[in-house]
Amino acid sequence: MDASPPLPCIRLLATGGTIAGAHKDGGGYESAAISTETLLEAVPGLAAVAAIEVEQVAHIGSQDMDQKVWLKLAATAQQALDDPAIAGVVITHGTDTMEETAYFLNLVLKTDLPVVLVGAMRPATAISPDGPMNLYNAICVATHRESATRGVLVVSNDEIHFAREIAKSNTTQVGTFKSPNRGLAGFVNRGRLHFFGPTVLKHTSASEFAPCELTELPRVDIIYAYAGMPRDLIDASVQAGARGIVIVGVGAGNMNKSVQAVCSDAVKAGVAVVRSSRTGGGIVARNIEIDDDRAGFVVAEELNPAKARVLLMLGLSRGLNTAALQALFTIY
Ligand code: GLU
Repeated sequence: MDASPPLPCIRLLATGGTIAGAHKDGGGYESAAISTETLLEAVPGLAAVAAIEVEQVAHIGSQDMDQKVWLKLAATAQQALDDPAIAGVVITHGTDTMEETAYFLNLVLKTDLPVVLVGAMRPATAISPDGPMNLYNAICVATHRESATRGVLVVSNDEIHFAREIAKSNTTQVGTFKSPNRGLAGFVNRGRLHFFGPTVLKHTSASEFAPCELTELPRVDIIYAYAGMPRDLIDASVQAGARGIVIVGVGAGNMNKSVQAVCSDAVKAGVAVVRSSRTGGGIVARNIEIDDDRAGFVVAEELNPAKARVLLMLGLSRGLNTAALQALFTIY
């Protein structure tokens, strides 16, 4: 009689991306072209790690990720996490918007169980695809007790990243993901985990936004600042009905005087304005070169623009005022 304990059960939620991509005749490749079952078959040794249940949530390259899919993904993941038979959730996802999906889920899933996003830079049909090893490592991370209570994680290129920290930094290279401010959550080598330390910021079971009860998210636009930026980009966003605007400011979240003035008018009209940075690292602090108190602006602190947008959407969905919105950026 076989006395070995049953394997942990992992629910794999598939959304598409390059990990499921296949080369097209004549060059290029198509995202989400290969079935998840075929992807799993390409990973030797997986059958000894976990029992895997697959659910296809979307079939997209992650450039097509949107709020509708986020809300569906959050509901599907929450349902899996609430199932006592499930040890963890793995989500396959394109790398383009992986960081914002991971951060959204980090804020809206009520769980202490491991939730791991995984993708690939090379399509499944490439020479030496990175997807199979990433998938193997992600499933090992999701089955491991040590991964619990760390919030949503992303596994890529033998590294484990916190959802809050990770950013795509390169268009094509396999080592594209970086965690520029607070660094990696750990390493994972052929399924062997080395965690460095937990995050001190709130997430998942401690998040006031979890579980997600929203049916839609407010419109928040991201506007990139540059030398000579005209003010009418802000006007257009306000006129289109944005409830919030994230400025991707130069340096420490700066913008020219005329853009500052129009942003200040937007605040007076009830639109939340968050200053973030286009530098890719560091902190945007209040009241340095811009008088945020006077203008009514919020600063993104360590969050990159895409993640500042996610947090602002959730804060606005609660009807929070400027001070309460600002507080979120130090808690999450
Ligand atoms: N555009 C694709 C996506 O994000 C390519 C990136 C990838 O999956 O690596 O789905």
